[in-house]
Amino acid sequence: MAAYKQPCIHCGTFIESDARICTSCGSMSPFGYLCPSCHRPVQKGQAMCAGCKRPLYVPCPTCGAQTFVQERCEACGSGLMVYCENKRCNALQFFQNTKCTVCGKKIKARIGGR
Ligand SMILES: [Zn+2]
Ligand SMILES: [Zn+2]
Ligand SMILES: [Zn+2]
Ligand SMILES: [Zn+2]
Repeated sequence: MAAYKQPCIHCGTFIESDARICTSCGSMSPFGYLCPSCHRPVQKGQAMCAGCKRPLYVPCPTCGAQTFVQERCEACGSGLMVYCENKRCNALQFFQNTKCTVCGKKIKARIGGR
């Protein structure tokens, strides 16, 4: 079966369409946006996740502008993801997540302090 390639929406690199992680930028949702809390597929422009009701636009911890819950701020481009502190897990987590959606460990790291 020929491997289809599709561009990653985050970095534009063509990767296999069944890849779960972009090999170029490490995104865990290379072909669409996922809710950072419950991993349900979400669309840009949606105000809240239909699954867990979390808001999908949040203030950027770096510049303060409202940004979609994607991997980088739409306004200033700074990263909105933090790595899980569990070394065996090391999953990228949205900065507002209080615990890792993969291993369940509490996340203490915060972008921009506070
Ligand atoms: Zn990518
Ligand atoms: Zn959700
Ligand atoms: Zn920003
Ligand atoms: Zn984890």
